[in-house]
Amino acid sequence: MRATARAWRELDLAALTGNLRAVEARLPPGCRVMAVVKADAYGHGAKTVARTLQRAGVRAFAAACLDEASALRRAGVGGEILVLGYTPPELAGVLARWRIAQTVLDEDYACRLSAQGVPLRVHLALDTGMHRFGLPAGDLAAARRVLALPHLHVVGTMSHLCAADSDPAETEAQAARFFAAVRALEASGLDPGRLHFQASYGVWNLPPQPCGYVRAGLALYGVPSDSRPLLYPMALRPVLSLRARVASVRDLAAGEGAGYDLAFRAERPTRLAVVAMGYADGLPRDLGRRGGEVLLRGRRCPVVGLVCMDQLLADVTGAGPVRSGDIATVIGRDGPEEITAVELAARCGAITNELLSRLSRRLGLVTRRQKS
Ligand SMILES: *Cc1c(COP(=O)(O)O)cnc(C)c1O
Repeated sequence: MRATARAWRELDLAALTGNLRAVEARLPPGCRVMAVVKADAYGHGAKTVARTLQRAGVRAFAAACLDEASALRRAGVGGEILVLGYTPPELAGVLARWRIAQTVLDEDYACRLSAQGVPLRVHLALDTGMHRFGLPAGDLAAARRVLALPHLHVVGTMSHLCAADSDPAETEAQAARFFAAVRALEASGLDPGRLHFQASYGVWNLPPQPCGYVRAGLALYGVPSDSRPLLYPMALRPVLSLRARVASVRDLAAGEGAGYDLAFRAERPTRLAVVAMGYADGLPRDLGRRGGEVLLRGRRCPVVGLVCMDQLLADVTGAGPVRSGDIATVIGRDGPEEITAVELAARCGAITNELLSRLSRRLGLVTRRQKS
């Protein structure tokens, strides 16, 4: 089956490696990228993304769960693979078999993991204010108890910033709590391993930090979450474009309706293109009402009516001779026009991470290596 038969994701792998270099250029000596490829690499396809980054020199990856992590190993990904979320302690043997590192989510979890009696590589999470995962950063005694547990080999100590895109003071405070906790561990003779607490916004909005990794997702994919300004922007290019075929073109007389609930009503003679992408592909059903557009023949065309499961309707009245089989762009460039993931996400009332990670796996996946 051809990946471009109906609707597809198009990956610019040169942009991916270019973005990697741009992030690396911002890192202090000794600090490396841990590529975050959870949720199928934010909808980009984890296998392709991880293999490309591995060829470009990346030796550390992060996944959300054990299944994602072991899939990376089966795809031939080496180096460190860290599970950021919960793995049932009784699956410790699977972690060990695939040589996958596990985040220590709290002290109780550390005890349960240790009790499995399986030697494991772990990264110790410290809670510096997000209150999602980690030992309280100020609780040195708890960290000492975890580091003393048998079978758990702590190779890293980490935290996560919860407001790096919005609150510089809180971000500075979290960084300070992290380093204070790490220094206290070191002062009591313990080795915290490689340090990491910055995701993409931690790189965009903080100066370089004395760490062993940054855990970058979004920045590698070349898109911020939204259009807010960044303190230390990088020259990045979006990796993903989203395209679909025009399935049919039809003309409506003034007054005729179209689509479910006849939610679109033509006020004048109107030409509609039926584009082969729908809410099952990850678009919101009300994209038309939210001002959504697609590109056809290099022009912006409004999405109208209600998005169907597998199709949407676009008003192409002014777009020239649109025909069945033409390619519509939902994210990306077409001639002089571009719809960015940030723009579409904003229209969807979402952030790009949310929009991209919800793209359906049924979308085809095609890769480009050349610079466009
Ligand atoms: C998702 C995630 C990241 C990556 O975040 P980006 O904003 O995409 O760079 C890093 N660390 C943790 C713990 C995460 O959950």
